[in-house]
Amino acid sequence: MEKLIIRDQLNRPLRDLRISVIDRCNFRCTYCMPAEKFGPDFAFLPKSELLTYEEIERLGKIFVGLGVEKIRLTGGEPLLRKDLPLLVKKLSDIEGLKDIGLTTNGVLLPKYAKELKAAGLLRVNISLDTLNSELFGQINGRGVGVETILEGIRAAQDAGLGVKINMVVKKGLNETEIVPMAKFCKEQGLQLRFIEYMDVGSTNGWKMDEVVTKREIYELLKEHYLLEPVDPDYFGEVAKRYRYEGTDVDVGFIPSVSESFCSSCTRARLSANGQIFTCLFNGEGHDIKEFMRRQDMTDEEIIERITGIWSGRKDRYSDERTEEGAKNRKKIEMSYIGG
Ligand code: SAM
Ligand code: SF4
Ligand code: SF4
Repeated sequence: MEKLIIRDQLNRPLRDLRISVIDRCNFRCTYCMPAEKFGPDFAFLPKSELLTYEEIERLGKIFVGLGVEKIRLTGGEPLLRKDLPLLVKKLSDIEGLKDIGLTTNGVLLPKYAKELKAAGLLRVNISLDTLNSELFGQINGRGVGVETILEGIRAAQDAGLGVKINMVVKKGLNETEIVPMAKFCKEQGLQLRFIEYMDVGSTNGWKMDEVVTKREIYELLKEHYLLEPVDPDYFGEVAKRYRYEGTDVDVGFIPSVSESFCSSCTRARLSANGQIFTCLFNGEGHDIKEFMRRQDMTDEEIIERITGIWSGRKDRYSDERTEEGAKNRKKIEMSYIGG
């Protein structure tokens, strides 16, 4: 399929698409969907508001035609969406797509890992913020212990999926877990990525002084390990990577707050309710669901709409972040847009 390269106002091409397939989750992580805000009466999206698999497939093909090479499925918890392997199959069959991954909390991987791999999934990022079960139960807001996630990791490895571990680090919560997590992942040959705590959405009460920066984590690791920098694999790679000297195990950092990477941000996001977001920190998205549900909407008309949205993009929120702005700006919740 011939690809059209489209560029935004800051000359950034469109390369990655992150699709949130569901806004629900079986966890209530304190930094993402705090239980007191996402309680039993919280109004999650009705099924009719979610994009169907056919709609996602159609959009996936269009996005790949516009330059997207990588798709990542996320949520909420994506494995709560019924028959997810069916969607993975539809997307992995798209000609020209080079990579398809999934971000998950890992709870349901023992059930689905093999099926996902057979459907064409290549990689999973599994979120785990500590090896201490009691603390993990508090963080995930559901009392789920670490062993459940370790089973998910093993299931993904056994199925032949590439596995990375995501750890959000928040001051006063889990910075004591940095070294134990690094040790564990190094021993297991797993790439660990430390994610700076971000001001996504407006329910997590983010404060700048709760961010543990990449530099702080790096300095701490250096007290224990010899690390050598690794060159990025491709333009726009978000993680800054290092290798434990003498091994082939990498450790990565996603320094979204302390070292913004907006100038190379090539990512569009499709929210659970069918809106296109050109930045994780947008308040409003651009509707695409209702637009494509209109009768007789042709692919050409959808391409024109997406091209128009991307061409007008000027977002560089992290470059310009201020504590005041973080508090006052209306931002989409992480569970809608998926990180
Ligand atoms: N439920 C899945 C999971 O947890 O992996 C996928 C969705 S989750 C929103 C995607 C990623 O965003 C996870 O790795 C999670 O840890 C991360 N995340 C959520 N809230 C965050 C925040 N406030 N700052 C940084 N990362 C966050
Ligand atoms: Fe759920 Fe993932 Fe958010 Fe945790 S980080 S509440 S697992 S969506
Ligand atoms: Fe991309 Fe927005 Fe993050 Fe900058 S702040 S890297 S534009 S998602």
